[in-house]
Amino acid sequence: MLVPPAQWALWKQRPRIVVYCLASEALAVTLAFRPSPVAVDLRSLTVLGALLALGVIQAEAGRRVERSQRRAAKTPHINMTSVWTFAGVLVLPPLLLAVLVGGLYLHLALRSWYRLQRVPPSRTCSNAAIILLSCYAAQAVLDLTDVADVRAAVTRGWTGAWLVAAAGATFFVVNALLVLPARRIVGRSVVELFGTWSDNGLEAATLCLGALNGLALATLPGMVVLVLPPVLLLHRSVLVKQLEAAAQRDEKTGLYTIRRWRALTERALADAERHGGTVGLLMLDLDHFKQVNDTYGHLAGDTVLSSTAEAIVSAVRGRDDAVGRFGGEEFVVLLPGTGRPDCGAVAERIRRAISVLTVPVGQSSITDLSVSIGVAVYPQAGRSLQDLLDAADAALYRAKETGRNKVVHAADLR
Ligand code: GH3
Ligand code: MG
Ligand code: MG
Repeated sequence: MLVPPAQWALWKQRPRIVVYCLASEALAVTLAFRPSPVAVDLRSLTVLGALLALGVIQAEAGRRVERSQRRAAKTPHINMTSVWTFAGVLVLPPLLLAVLVGGLYLHLALRSWYRLQRVPPSRTCSNAAIILLSCYAAQAVLDLTDVADVRAAVTRGWTGAWLVAAAGATFFVVNALLVLPARRIVGRSVVELFGTWSDNGLEAATLCLGALNGLALATLPGMVVLVLPPVLLLHRSVLVKQLEAAAQRDEKTGLYTIRRWRALTERALADAERHGGTVGLLMLDLDHFKQVNDTYGHLAGDTVLSSTAEAIVSAVRGRDDAVGRFGGEEFVVLLPGTGRPDCGAVAERIRRAISVLTVPVGQSSITDLSVSIGVAVYPQAGRSLQDLLDAADAALYRAKETGRNKVVHAADLR
C-alpha cells in the first residue's frame, strides 16, 4: 500500500525537521554520483551482493532477540547495520555504497510493515540518508589521503591501519552529530543527546567488526561470513543489558522494584555508617484505596497508582533519592543524607502533591486522594534496614489510626 505524497507522515513534522530531512536526502543522493577511484565492476558488484545478503541474514536471524527486546524495553530496535555499511565504506564506490544502504534500510522498512510498530517510510529515508552521509564523511578521510579503498590501505602498513581507524572515528562522530537535529525531543544532558557509554560502546564495537569485515572482503572475501556469529552475539548482549534494566523497575509504576530499592538503601546505610551521616526513609500507603478500585474499577486503580508514583518522584527530585514500590498501593522513599526536619518537609510535600492530584479516567476524573506517611531516620530510629522499615511502618500505622492523610515521625511514637 503506497501512501499518497500529500498524506506522508513527514509533513506532520516541524518545518525545521522537514527541511533538514529533505536537505540531507538530497545531499546524500548528490554525493552518491560523485566520481571515485573505485570502479563499479563485477568485483565491486559481487561485494555489494554479499554485504546485502549478509545484512538481510543478520536482521532476520536477530528477529527473536528483537522480539524479546521489545518486550523488555520501550526503546526501538538497535540498529547494527554499520557492520555492513562501514565495510562498504572501505571497499565500495559511492554509488554502490548508496545501493547497499538503500537496500538494507528498504529491508528494515519492509519488515516494519508487518509489525504493529510501523515506522513511517519518511523516517526510514531520513535515517538511511544520515547513515549514507556518515559513510561518505568516512570515505572522505580515505579520499583526502589518497587511499582509494582498504586494499590500498593494506599496502601502507601502520599508516593504512590509522587511516581506517580515522575513517571509523569520523563515521561515529558525524553520525552522532547528524542525528541530533532530526530528533523531535532534544534533551539537554550529554546522555540524552548522545546516549549512554554502553550505547556508544555497542556502536563502536559494531564499527570495529565493520572494519574487520571490510579487511576480509579485500583480502580473503570468504571470511566475511565469520563476522555473522559475533554480530549476532553482540546483538544478544544488548538484550541482556535491557533485561537487567527492566528487572530493576516495577512494570506498573516505573518505580524501583522492592529488591532494587533494598539494595540501594543498604548501600546508602553502609555509606552513612562509614561517614557518620543520616538517611531518611518514608513509607507511604494510599488512604482508602480499596474504594477507588470498588468505585472506578481495577484499571482506574492502576492509573491512580502510576499517577501517584509520578507525583512522588517529582516531589523528591534529588539525584540520590530513590522511590520504590513496596507492594500494592504502598511505596517507600529513600532520602540519603537527609535528617529529620528535611524528611518531614519532603513527606509533607508528597502528601500535598497527592492531595491535589487529578487522575482522568474515561469521561470523569478521580480527585480527593490522600496518603498516610511514616518517617524513620537513621540512626535514631534504627540501624538496620529492617529496623528502619519496622519503625516507618509503625509510624504509618499511627498515621492511619489517627485519621489518615498525615505524616507521622517514628521519633514521636515513644
Ligand atoms: P487504608 O486507608 O487503610 O490503607 O485503606 P485501603 O483501602 O487502602 O486498604 P488496604 O491498604 O488494605 O487496601 C489495598 C488495596 O489495594 C487492596 C487491593 O485490592 C488494592 N491493590 C493492591 N495492588 C493493586 C494494584 O496493583 N492495582 C490496583 N488497582 N489495586 C491494587
Ligand atoms: Mg495497603
Ligand atoms: Mg491503603
